Formats: sequence, C-alpha cells, structure tokens
Amino acid sequence: MARDPRYDILFEPIKIGPVTAKNRFYQVPHCNGMGHPNPRAVAGMRGMKAEGGWAVICTEECEIHPTGDVSPYKEARLWDDHDIPALAMMCDAVHAHGALAGCELVHNGPSCPNHYSRELPIGPSHQPVNSYDPMQARAMDREDIRNYRRWHRDAALRAQRAGFDVIYVYAGHDLSLPMHFLQRRRNNRTDEYGGSLENRVRLFRELIEETKDAVGHRCAVVVRYATDELLGPEGLTLEESRDIVGMLAELPDLWDVNVSAWLNDSTTSRFKAEGNQEPFIAFVKKMTSKPVVGVGRFTSPDTMVSQIRRGVLDMIGAARPSIADPFLPKKIEEGRPEDIRECIGCNMCVSGDFTMSHFRCTQNPTAGEEWRKGWHPEIVPARKSTDEVLVVGAGPAGLECARTLGQRGYRVHLAEASDELGGRVAKEAKLPGLSEWARVRDYRAYQLGKLADVEIYRGSRLDAAHILEMGASRVVIATGAQWRRDGVGRMHGFAVPGFEAANVLTPDDILAGKPVEGPVVIYDDDHYYMGGVLAEKLRRDGHEVAIVTPADLVSSWTQKTLEASHIQRRLMEQGIELLVKQDVAAFKGDHVELACVYTGRRSQRACGSLVTVTARLPNDALCQALLAQPGALTDAGIKSVTAIGDARGPGTIAAAVYQGHRYGRELDEPPAGEVAFKREMPSLVV
Ligand code: ADP
Ligand code: SF4
Repeated sequence: MARDPRYDILFEPIKIGPVTAKNRFYQVPHCNGMGHPNPRAVAGMRGMKAEGGWAVICTEECEIHPTGDVSPYKEARLWDDHDIPALAMMCDAVHAHGALAGCELVHNGPSCPNHYSRELPIGPSHQPVNSYDPMQARAMDREDIRNYRRWHRDAALRAQRAGFDVIYVYAGHDLSLPMHFLQRRRNNRTDEYGGSLENRVRLFRELIEETKDAVGHRCAVVVRYATDELLGPEGLTLEESRDIVGMLAELPDLWDVNVSAWLNDSTTSRFKAEGNQEPFIAFVKKMTSKPVVGVGRFTSPDTMVSQIRRGVLDMIGAARPSIADPFLPKKIEEGRPEDIRECIGCNMCVSGDFTMSHFRCTQNPTAGEEWRKGWHPEIVPARKSTDEVLVVGAGPAGLECARTLGQRGYRVHLAEASDELGGRVAKEAKLPGLSEWARVRDYRAYQLGKLADVEIYRGSRLDAAHILEMGASRVVIATGAQWRRDGVGRMHGFAVPGFEAANVLTPDDILAGKPVEGPVVIYDDDHYYMGGVLAEKLRRDGHEVAIVTPADLVSSWTQKTLEASHIQRRLMEQGIELLVKQDVAAFKGDHVELACVYTGRRSQRACGSLVTVTARLPNDALCQALLAQPGALTDAGIKSVTAIGDARGPGTIAAAVYQGHRYGRELDEPPAGEVAFKREMPSLVV
C-alpha cells in the first residue's frame, strides 16, 4: 500500500554535518544488557532496526577508557584498538541497509566505581561515587583533564575507524564527565573549569571542538544533552540550560536532547504519557539552526508529524518504540501504520541493563534474539505440516502463539473462556496507570483478525472432553495462573495462620470486583508492580490503605524498571502508608500481626480486608487432565499437549509472550538442543 502523504515529511532526508540521514527516524543510544561481551548479538539487533527503516542507529553508552569502566553493566567499549572489530561488525550491519551508525562515547567519571579495571575513579571534585560503593572519585588535576580530552579524541578516531558516521559527546542522565563538570553540586573547582557557567561549560566545549577537529571532516559530531535534572535549584535547571545551549548552539552538528536522570527520561507509561518531554526540550530548536532530536515514547505517526510541524523536533528519536517494533518506520512507509507493535512503556527492556542479560521486550519477543536464535521480528518460517492447532486461552501467551502459528500458515483454533481477549492484560490494563498495557492484546487481536486460517471462539470454556472431540492434532494450553490466597511466597513456605478467612482477598478477587472493607492492608511479597498498583486503586476507591512488605522498598523489583522512586512518591502522596521490612505473621480477622523482618518484634494493625500478593499457581488442571489419558489422546489424533505461559510457570507478561512465540515458531522445526541459542565465547587470544 502507498504511504499516506500526511507522513511524507517523516521520510525527508536530514543533513547532519557531513553525513545525511535518509529519513527522520533516529534510534537514540540505548542499552541492551548485551554490550561488548556480545558483539554479534548487538550487531544483529542494531542491523534489524536498520532493516526496519531507521535512518540513524546508535550504540549504547560506549566506554572510552578503563577509568570510566561501568562494569558490571554491559555496555559498548572502545578502550583501545582491540575493541574496534566488535563495533565494526555493528557498523557493517547498519550500513548494509543504508542507515548511519552512531557511537555514544562516554566517560562516566564519578558514576563509575571501576570494579573491573580497578582504576581510581575520577571526577571534577573529590566526591563519593554515585552508587553506594565504598569508593570516592578523586578530583581531576589539569593533567587528568588533558588526558581525558586525549582519551576522548583517541576514542573518536577509533570509532571513525570502526565505521561510525555519527560520533557523540555525551552530557546526559547525571552521567558523564561533561555533565558532572556542568553540575554545580558536583563541581567545586576554583580553576578555569569551575565556578562560572562559562568555566563549567569549558570542558564540554573543548570536547566538541576536539572531536570535530579529529573526525568532523567525515563524521557528524553530535551532543546528547539533558536540559533539566528536575531537582530544582540543586540540579541543572531549564534556565541554566537555555544559557548552555545558547553558548554552544552552532557547535555540534545535531542536538539530541532529553531530561535527566534516566528515570525521568525513560519513564514508564504508568507515570508519563507519549511526548511528555516537550516542555523541557522545545526551546532548543529556537536557539540553533542544527537538527534537533528528542524522545517521548513516540509510536503514533500523527504525533511525530505534529512534533516536526510545530517546530519541536527535526528527527524523531526513539529507543523503546524501536525495540518494540524495529520495523516502525517501514510500516509507516508502506502505508500500514496500524501494524505497528506499539511499545507499552513497561520498561521490561530496561531491566536487561540492570540484570546484565540480553534485554527482553514485552511486545517484541524477538528482541535480543536476532542473532543468537536467528529470530526476525517480521518473518517466521513457513509451516512444516498440515497439523491443526488448538490454543486454549487468549491471554498474552495464547494470543502470541496463535498469531505466530497463523503467520506461519497453520490452521489455528483459539478458544477463550471469557467474552474478552487478552487474559490478564485485559484485566490489569484497567488498573491505575496501566491502560497502555492493553496494546499487548490490541496488536495481537488486530493481527489475528487478518489471518484467514485462525478461528477465534469467545465465551468458550473448554474441558478435556471438548478438546478430545475437537479434532486438532496439537493442543496448546495457555490458561494462565491464579494468585495464591494462603500467603505462601518468598517469606512463607507454609500457609500463614488466619489467611483462610473470608476477608483475605487476592489480586484476582480485586480485579473481579469483590467487595472490600477498609482499612485495607496489602501484603506484598511479590515485589513487582501488583501490590503498589492495587494500593493506588484501593486508595482511589476511598479506602484507608497500608502496604506491608518484607523488602526495603515497596515494589522493590521496579528499581530495574526505573519505577521504584516514582512509585514510593506516588503512594506517599496519595496518603498510602508504606510499612517496609515488615512481614505479616498472622491474620486475626480484624487485624494483622506484623513482624519486623530483622528483630521479629511484633505489632498489630487494624485491617478490614487483607489483600495478599505473594505468588501464583498455574491453572494446569486441564493440561493434567489431558495428559492423564494418553490412550484417549491417541484415539483423538492428538500428537501433543503443551502448556505455555503462566499455565506452565507463572511469570511476567513478557515471559508469557515469549513462550507463546517460541511454541509458534518452533513447532515442527528441528529441536533447538539443550542450549537453545548460540553463544559468544571469550577469545583465548591475548
Ligand atoms: P498468560 O499470561 O499465560 O497468557 P492469562 O492468565 O493472561 O495467561 O490468560 C489465560 C486465559 O485463558 C484467560 O483469558 C482465561 O480466561 C483463559 N482460560 C482459562 N481456562 C480456560 C479454558 N478452560 N478454556 C478456555 N479459556 C480458558
Ligand atoms: Fe516498550 Fe516494554 Fe518493550 Fe521496553 S519492554 S520496548 S517499554 S514494550
């Protein structure tokens, strides 16, 4: 189909210094949990985005020197020439599809404890490193600054040799030395690099000038700059940023601008909407003639066009939307924007950085698997048999499984007990802040609607007898899971006394609308979003709410999705009491007995309804019932019965989508082996 002329503007080429981007789609730097130890995986992932139509594809942070070692995090690295071939692989993969490759050179100064290199951290002034590691950064003297400028220049030359077209000077995210020198709270210097704004900008300016001098004839030299730290007068403010941008306006070939810190930049949809950074970055375009790129979790082409027409941005920056759909630009170009797999803003991808493992995406199960499994986000192998497949349950796992099988050409029957598709996603998307999660269902429901060989049966709760009668030769059970009500989880291996009472409720009960009596106590031994989100809901419903958790923080795991501090703040502001490091030892009908997790000291708290959020159990009765009658299965012509998603092992929505996809992709394919993916082994050459 032809592209909608309204979107033509998105496909105009943009000149960035000495290079030209073929359109306005710009994949800004983003981490991925793979980094320098997994160069093939990185090249596979970045190359896929180039194939999908992005004009500029950048690395994650790229360390330039062992004094700026961000280990254990896995980022890119250009310490010396040994690092060039790995990044050259990425450049080749990007160039193969006519895109430009960008390298974000970074030295994170006092944000680096240098665990691997054991070099002393450095910074503008003597200061503890930003983490709680028991180390300090020492103040850089003039020789250190000269050295640092040389390292940056050398790294730029290496990046050019690797094949990069766009080279960054990075001052963002409360990271990187140029940013630390700009920050009054970190820069206490009294020499020409401290004090006045002009002095604090000096290093940033020198780096841009020297990078241009080194590589600017061939490569674009661009900056990434965070305009506001959202810390009030303690941090860099918008007022100061106006002056800084004014001082450097025409120096770089492009401005890539955002807000700081990372948790304010890559904020989840629970806390910020598409395009939320506009008030902080719109001023930049008015101060420079150079192209400006910014981010905002843009997935709507209309919003993108509006950003350009209104003079906010020249190029549409994206990290997460490009992960959820590497083919987003192509789909707009081909006149099928409704096929875009829109990012839901959950930050499961970000958790890959914090867990230092190949990133994963709730919407795109192939993210991070491009090289090691050879998975393409848009292409699946054709079916290898005429088997018909019955998928029972249309939650994230069942929907993705049916979609993938249908795309492969299998005849699929998808049976769902309720009248609504989406399973847990349909229910959870109604909770405060989670409405965008419905995109997990919407994308799949729309794609299924286009597949002639997929039949969907709503309102069809199947039992074993139905399944034996249906005549499908493969059966996939995707019937989900349910929350436990006995309190068993991480803290408790045995049922907690009193949890059998009628006024003990589970998240499933709340989602089903069961009546709640205040005051409410939520016992959260799950540690992801559910406890905190239910607290918000029940508070909005007018109840007095306290949330009790054995962890140090409410929703502790959400530190890995950059949400933990947003969550604490929101719950506190809503008047929800946060009781941390406390366990629920017993429920006595009208109160809970709490126990300090360190001392065991007991206290009591009045409680009209106790909501227990601890663990889930799979809905696997149907699967077990079928597997218990092998003769009947054979007679019915059923070759296999396989549980997937939460019905196999309760987990995240991302895990359920991944399992659904995996079943769909691997059916009738040769077995993948015990280690079901390729690995990148360390070289033994020294
Ligand atoms: P997952 O995350 O693994 O996809 P969900 O709990 O989100 O799991 O979805 C499971 C879906 O399966 C729900 O929509 C539920 O209504 C449906 N389901 C459960 N049991 C049956 C059954 N016996 N027949 C048909 N659908 C079922
Ligand atoms: Fe978007 Fe979530 Fe995928 Fe990240 S994991 S790209 S936030 S859908």
